[in-house]
Amino acid sequence: MDKLTLLKQYFGHSAFRPGQEALADALLSGRDALGVMPTGAGKSVCYQLPALLLPGLTLVISPLISLMKDQVTALTQAGVPAAYINSSLDAEAYRETYRRIRRGECKLLYVAPERLQAEGFRRLLEELPVSLVAVDEAHCVSQWGQDFRPSYLEIAELVRALPARPPVGAFTATATAAVRRDIETLLELRDPLRVTTGFDRPNLFFEVVRPRDKEAWLSRFLAERPGQSGIVYCATRKTVDAVTASLLAQGVPAARYHAGLEDGERRASQEGFVYDQVRVMVATNAFGMGIDKSNVSFVVHYNMPKDLESYYQEAGRAGRDGSPARCVLLYAPGDVQTAKFLIANSQESQEGDPNRLRRDLARLNRMVSYCKTGGCLRADILDYFGEIHAGRCGNCGNCAGDFVDRDITVEAQKILSAVARVEKRYASGLGAALIIKLLRGSRDKRVLQLGLDQLPTHGAMKGVDRELAQRYIDCLMEAGYLRSDGEEYPVLRLTAQAGDVLFRGKRVLFRDRAAATPSPEAKPAPAPRPGAQEADGGLLAALKALRFRLAQEAGVPAYVVFSNATLADMAALRPLTPEEFLQVSGVGRVKAERYGAVFLQAIQNWRAGVSD
Ligand code: ADP
Ligand code: ZN
Repeated sequence: MDKLTLLKQYFGHSAFRPGQEALADALLSGRDALGVMPTGAGKSVCYQLPALLLPGLTLVISPLISLMKDQVTALTQAGVPAAYINSSLDAEAYRETYRRIRRGECKLLYVAPERLQAEGFRRLLEELPVSLVAVDEAHCVSQWGQDFRPSYLEIAELVRALPARPPVGAFTATATAAVRRDIETLLELRDPLRVTTGFDRPNLFFEVVRPRDKEAWLSRFLAERPGQSGIVYCATRKTVDAVTASLLAQGVPAARYHAGLEDGERRASQEGFVYDQVRVMVATNAFGMGIDKSNVSFVVHYNMPKDLESYYQEAGRAGRDGSPARCVLLYAPGDVQTAKFLIANSQESQEGDPNRLRRDLARLNRMVSYCKTGGCLRADILDYFGEIHAGRCGNCGNCAGDFVDRDITVEAQKILSAVARVEKRYASGLGAALIIKLLRGSRDKRVLQLGLDQLPTHGAMKGVDRELAQRYIDCLMEAGYLRSDGEEYPVLRLTAQAGDVLFRGKRVLFRDRAAATPSPEAKPAPAPRPGAQEADGGLLAALKALRFRLAQEAGVPAYVVFSNATLADMAALRPLTPEEFLQVSGVGRVKAERYGAVFLQAIQNWRAGVSD
């Protein structure tokens, strides 16, 4: 059977995504391959499809035990015989799995890298015809990566020990050159086909927001998108606990996840989320590597992460099924301090590698510049990953965002009169930082030394945060009421026009991104497929409810039955016959056989209800 037929039959996809076919072909022809593709790009197909076509067993090395069960369940549901071996199996399940594998009843076998050293497992492998070794999350082999796993270093040795060396396919979403080099060397890839696909995720809407009150912003954000679930990432465990408590108090089904919790609670949280019982997962970055939940509609960063790579990886957990999803970063200047603190106290820095610290701080600065840019956010990310792109994407907070003009005449008058007073007192003038301290009513040493606390404008802008005050000053400079004087220690000076604002009632408008104002607006993310949304009319909700019920009955996560994208397509196409049902994107033959009848019935019921 040819590849495309298999792709449709088992995975329900009617075309390959970029890179998939080339990588699959390489592995099928016996060549090693390295696939660098962003999360959600569809790496699994690259080795699952060859696994179906190759005569023997495909060994998949995957770092996360918690994920294997779901991956294997999803494959089994799609009609692909697969199994996993890890420490979660009891003796009986373990023996049964070994028996199935020996009888050749599995095409794919998932194992954690730690398993490779086990004597019994080694012996099993010697008896088996291994046709392919696939290494998932291959960056775990590199110490440059974020998730180094020493056992990954054993993979090369294991492959060497196999009676006949099978092709090795390595897959990762981590893009940097150093990590890629490590993967090739340490996994001993032989002349691999290298495929790096675009890092752009067109269905993700990126946005940076500066809410005055993050908690209020979040409850509003959630209220505006009922029925959607997602992840809220926080920088510290304490924030995770606080945000979770606040959401629960508001009646939002939320759960928390961080390294300080008992295994049991962590597992329960994760399962609740994956099985759609928990709507919002509040977590530190400990949550998520390889979380294989495709219907995550939003990822909110309550705090700024420490580098753009982490950000993109975490935000990228949204919309993996291709549906529109929203990635919002809540920025507050204080987060920069938190991130600096976390970097300074991280294990690596404690070990006293000054280069590491410098590198981390440089990465942090790059993260901050993403938060502050007025340019296209997607372009900024793609620049970072060295990818060519169109200048403006039209689908991020900075491209699509509405702008509002806010009247800040009163604030402007306060700032300008503070500068005027200071000029009278100190002919040499003062820099913006001190002017802001003066306005905010600071009593720090320098302020007291200069006697700024004696000026009548001291504290005139209490409660306005430093960042915003700085942006007001930037605005006044741009409008020509203030200018900066001096090279090394620039000071603020009034211009001749300042009098218009101070004495002649001239208004000052502050151009602000609507998304950056305290009140969050929320536009629905644009649908990539016209028709998908208007087709809804309650049908999508009905299909989701049916999926939820079926998933519960089968004891599998909802997305294992069908992804959100598949349900949306179903709602748009409204198939009436089994043939039409097969046309729905994401519906393969096995799933059509398993679920077709009930879903077709649901669609029919819905039609009847509508025409009544
Ligand atoms: P990755 O491992 O790269 O993060 P996955 O392999 O989990 O990504 O795939 C992500 C999503 O993309 C899944 O929901 C999968 O069904 C879907 N997908 C994969 N390949 C295709 C394809 N050729 N066409 C449509 N959807 C696909
Ligand atoms: Zn943009």
